[in-house]
Amino acid sequence: MTPLDRLKAMARSWGGEIRRVPPPPGHFFSIPPDSGLSLCPFEGGLAVEHARLRVVFWNEYPDLGALVHEMGHVFAARKVPARAREWRFFGWEYLVARRGGCSVEWFKSSGDYVIGGGGRAFGGLSPSAQRKILASRIRFARRNGLIKGGVPVSIRRRRTKP
Ligand SMILES: [Zn+2]
Repeated sequence: MTPLDRLKAMARSWGGEIRRVPPPPGHFFSIPPDSGLSLCPFEGGLAVEHARLRVVFWNEYPDLGALVHEMGHVFAARKVPARAREWRFFGWEYLVARRGGCSVEWFKSSGDYVIGGGGRAFGGLSPSAQRKILASRIRFARRNGLIKGGVPVSIRRRRTKP
């Protein structure tokens, strides 16, 4: 089972889906706002359909770290991506990446991640500072019900049938 398969299985177990789709027509910024797709501009090739609990990608090999981040938008945030407070699910992301077997990719893609309100990049910190931050974000996620028994869970459920 590849890391991508593991992430897909996690999404399925939470009532959602990770799926490869054909590339959207035209440049991705031209996707109409009512399409239901949310795109993170720095994470090309990935999009989120928040209401449908779905992350889609259209490159053959998606950036797994970025994919884990998008999973956070779908399963660990009730608000749509544009309004989400991503810092809330940073510790959740790390545990999902570990379970998926792609923590190396996750660290790499989180290098530019700006630490909650501070303006500093995660990748610019020493390993011990990173560990401290992760431990504190995991504690936060646990207090907020995103992690149960050491395992990252989904705080969302599909409302309507697909
Ligand atoms: Zn994001």
